[in-house]
Amino acid sequence: MPPNPDEIARFLDELCAYVHDLNQWGQVADYIPELASIDPAQFGIAVALPDGRILRSGQADVGFSIQSISKVFSLACVLGRIGEQVWNRVGREPSGDRFDSILLLEQEKGRPRNPFINAGALVVTDELLTGRTPAQALSEVMNFIRATAEDDDIHIDKAVALSEAETGHRNTALAHYLRSFGNLHNAPELTLGTYFHQCAIEMTCMQLARAGRFLAHLPGAPKMLSPAKVRRINALMMTCGHYDGSGNFAFRVGMPAKSGVGGGLLVIAPGKASIGIWSPGLDAWGNSQIGTLAAERLAEFTGWSVFG
Ligand code: GLN
Repeated sequence: MPPNPDEIARFLDELCAYVHDLNQWGQVADYIPELASIDPAQFGIAVALPDGRILRSGQADVGFSIQSISKVFSLACVLGRIGEQVWNRVGREPSGDRFDSILLLEQEKGRPRNPFINAGALVVTDELLTGRTPAQALSEVMNFIRATAEDDDIHIDKAVALSEAETGHRNTALAHYLRSFGNLHNAPELTLGTYFHQCAIEMTCMQLARAGRFLAHLPGAPKMLSPAKVRRINALMMTCGHYDGSGNFAFRVGMPAKSGVGGGLLVIAPGKASIGIWSPGLDAWGNSQIGTLAAERLAEFTGWSVFG
């Protein structure tokens, strides 16, 4: 018998106590100065269920920088807008490389491997920007997130965006490199500015869990995209959502998920739950160390897995 919501709620509190006892938080991202000063010893989790309940434990109401989790929402916007055409500009294979790798782009002549590595996300943001100003493109992503979370109190942390813009030399290099291959249609500084702001969206675990309900096909979730497009986003989250740690995450957790260097994690248990997790300390791949462990333990406890 799978556990009932009350049992899951108790488990989340035990999990929260467990990770604090464990005290192995990982390292916060220090290449974005604004994130470098965050205390890694923090943990929150929220689990949205089909009956509309959201179970929570720890710091589930603390806002954090969603960073690369935003790539799921920008891709959703672009898929909604131009559909399959997006695959003319970006691939859908796992990269097996760091999220900010430049190497692959050279080898593959400017067509990024997938939309979740930085080069691929820059292309998606560039597509979003086409025919719009950066403010309009950002509004489109923000409106999407606010609609799917059914919460208007979601904003961009400008200090984080600025901080990344000042030190984002790798992303700047990637954008110019894409442009040299003709796969960036807007001025690199405009695409980069939009991308840094999109990454600087601040959300709580509660908001993230609600925002992910459409990906889990939970009853009552706002209908954002067709079921076929949702399936594809989940497939990409499973295969590419954790960069070169994606295979390991699939092995340990068995569910589609997307990480961000702010320590957030959106995990989708199709038909069962949408899960927001946050713990800012990262592992060697740049994914939340304790967030991954928490997702693994929750999957073990509930039996939630797309692999049966
Ligand atoms: N804004 C970050 C970057 O571009 C996002 C990376 C991430 O969350 N993995 O480096």
